[in-house]
Amino acid sequence: MDIAIFWFRRDLRLEDNKALYHALNCGLPVLCVFIFDTEIIEELPAYDARVTFIYNRLEDINNVLEKHGSNLKVMKGKPMACWQQLQNEYQIKQVFINKDYEPYARHRDKELKHQLLQKNTTLHTFKDHVIFEESEIVKDNDTPYLVFTPFMKKWKSKLSNNDLQSYHSENGTNYLQVQLPFPSLQEIGFTPSEIKVPEFRPSNILNYEDTRNLPIYDTSFVGVHLRFGTLSIRSIVSSISTSDTVYLNELIWREFFMQILFHFPASVNNNFKKKYDGIKWRNNHQEFKLWSQGKTGYPIVDAGMRQLNETGFMHNRVRMIVASFLCKHLLIDWRWGEAYFAKKLLDYELSSNNGNWQWVAGTGCDAAPYFRIFNPEEQTKKFDKNLQYIKRWVTDLNTSTYPAPIVDHKFARIRALETYKAGIAKYAPQ
Ligand code: FAD
Repeated sequence: MDIAIFWFRRDLRLEDNKALYHALNCGLPVLCVFIFDTEIIEELPAYDARVTFIYNRLEDINNVLEKHGSNLKVMKGKPMACWQQLQNEYQIKQVFINKDYEPYARHRDKELKHQLLQKNTTLHTFKDHVIFEESEIVKDNDTPYLVFTPFMKKWKSKLSNNDLQSYHSENGTNYLQVQLPFPSLQEIGFTPSEIKVPEFRPSNILNYEDTRNLPIYDTSFVGVHLRFGTLSIRSIVSSISTSDTVYLNELIWREFFMQILFHFPASVNNNFKKKYDGIKWRNNHQEFKLWSQGKTGYPIVDAGMRQLNETGFMHNRVRMIVASFLCKHLLIDWRWGEAYFAKKLLDYELSSNNGNWQWVAGTGCDAAPYFRIFNPEEQTKKFDKNLQYIKRWVTDLNTSTYPAPIVDHKFARIRALETYKAGIAKYAPQ
């Protein structure tokens, strides 16, 4: 029997899912597939919270499919090998996916297209993860924007109701009738994580402008849901009111960094601005360890790192402070910090993580100037003046076990300025 396949990747939902909608309307019975990609999951610890989250979502999806007489086909392996297996097992005529813009995914999908073509199978790709993708928002001369504000203005001027259309299919009868086993998490090689993914909290958007910089207040927690597609970006943008401009701007930052990564994939491992290549990072392993454990002796830094280690989340303001502390106070390469966040953050998104780390380090496209060095004490006075956030995470504050500062702020500030200056001078073309 000829069938179509819909491949779930970073779009783990049945509602308002563009590629799935088109699959269900293509006239062929649809088999839904998910692949635990060993290239990715082999790097992760057995208790990784994101894998538990993905697994639970897949279980929910499978339960709904079961009501339609179908099942989710869950596979584990290298994607192309899994696809070979699918091609041997089924007569696949059409394949539907939502686009993923990361360099690894783009390469993988190109390979898939090629492999499918060998058997005359068509691959249909859709924009689902963003409102505007690739080169949809570019300068008048068709080059990508490198600065956020004009990108944001163009984004807003282009937005129409069409971009927010939802894709709800009533076509449940078009799923392929199958009975497939659903593996346990242990069979995939993981154990359930203690860390729970927070639900999206739309009510936190109401006072967003007043509270978003104060880490004691929770933000909307939409990040993780956008990352794995458990919520659709179209539905989020449609649901917020036009007065929520600050919140909308944050969602546009997400797309800004995505288009930067799309146009400049080399920025994954490199300073966006070459002139920072000469910085002599100290890269002290012991200091990196203390930073990652939340034992720097700077309470706001330690609170952030402990929140991250315990919950997989850190407030945005505190992300900026801990990142600045690592790059400037300790002169540790932003790539080390970025990799640590990638391991721990539930909402880890390559484009946003890389973009923000480079923003803080001063090496990014539209970055904070390198001489802007956050003073952790001043930041605390401004954003956590009653130490509520700090005390929530640093329970040993003011006890004998709490460490003394690992570096003096004034000394570290001057050292950072001199090191950056020397690095830039070294790189400057003669
Ligand atoms: P809210 O404050 O409710 O914001 C809503 C959404 O807007 C976010 O979910 C996100 O999609 C977007 N957004 C907000 N701020 C930014 C920003 N600065 N850049 C890009 N998008 C933004 N965000 C990630 O999604 N993944 C990351 O891996 C990530 N790494 C970061 C690393 C550093 C060093 C810094 C300073 C920031 C990072 N951010 C990252 C951005 C921001 O901290 C998170 O998006 C936000 O804290 C997630 O919580 P929330 O969903 O409650 O956000």
